[in-house]
Amino acid sequence: MQSETEFSIVIPIYNEEENIPELYRRLTAVMKKLCEDEGMEKESYEIILVDDGSTDRSWLLIKGLHEKDQKIKGIRFSRNFGHHIAITAGLDHAEGNAVILMDGDLQDPPEEIPKLYEKFIEGYDLVYAEREKRDDPLLRKIISWIYLRVLKIITNLEINLESGIFRIMSKRTVENLRRLREKSRFLLGLMGWVGLPQAKVKIERHKRYSGSSKYTLFKLFKLAWHGVTSFSYVPLQLATYLGFLVAVMSFLLGLFMLYRKLFLGIPILGYASIIVSLFFLGGVILLVLGVIGEYIGRIYTEVQNRPLYVIQEEIR
Ligand code: UDP
Ligand code: MG
Repeated sequence: MQSETEFSIVIPIYNEEENIPELYRRLTAVMKKLCEDEGMEKESYEIILVDDGSTDRSWLLIKGLHEKDQKIKGIRFSRNFGHHIAITAGLDHAEGNAVILMDGDLQDPPEEIPKLYEKFIEGYDLVYAEREKRDDPLLRKIISWIYLRVLKIITNLEINLESGIFRIMSKRTVENLRRLREKSRFLLGLMGWVGLPQAKVKIERHKRYSGSSKYTLFKLFKLAWHGVTSFSYVPLQLATYLGFLVAVMSFLLGLFMLYRKLFLGIPILGYASIIVSLFFLGGVILLVLGVIGEYIGRIYTEVQNRPLYVIQEEIR
């Protein structure tokens, strides 16, 4: 069903007080122009700002913007639930026929939205911005490159590797995404899972307008791990592979020792090899147990079936 609102722009906000005014200014200019260029009678868009438990003046700013511009809608979480959950809440509330996702720090330049839209109306359900150049630290680039390659191999899903969340999606993509309510969310993976026709557009990713990344190393690691465990149980099969490896290795080692004893007359030394293999096997077993534990933990949170987020305040 076609809805009244043409565009929804969903933006997660976590302590972005320095960025909100500039974001609003640039985004509004772009959206007004886009609506005009598309020959719409009235500007038909909404900007949904999801405040993910900010501790600065972000929410006050959002409320202020809403008072002078009804196109601004706000959702305020009771606490920090995380980037992907904030986006999820925005998607739950978005009414537009085309839904645009972008970060709130102006790393995704609003001026590029028309470029995404141009591709979108060729008939795709999802058009994402492929980063042309990334201004992230080198180490982070290397790690994320390796990680995403590995992820693609083991999950076998079309997860676009060089993209952030900057994208435009059709209503039916969003409706399908809404049906996926798993607790540990890896949105790029979920979008790959939906699997409707995708296309990409090359877009430059800028430096943050102000402030520093809200992603700590720990949060990034958590996200990466969720990416793997949400879409594959390869880690659970680790036990099989490791068990096989250890068996083969110890067999070869046994042959080697036998050879030395029989043909070279070197006596079999017990102590060191026993200790080493004991620790090695102990390590392997602990590792595998840990992995199983992770999956059980995940099952546990799914079974608890808590809601994904709690809204403290909503303006629309
Ligand atoms: N963000 C959020 N909750 C968080 C962390 C970040 O809503 O717990 C928002 C943040 O305000 C920004 C976007 O998610 O709009 C991306 O965050 P950030 O720029 O810190 O990540 P990076 O660009 O470094 O990956
Ligand atoms: Mg950023």
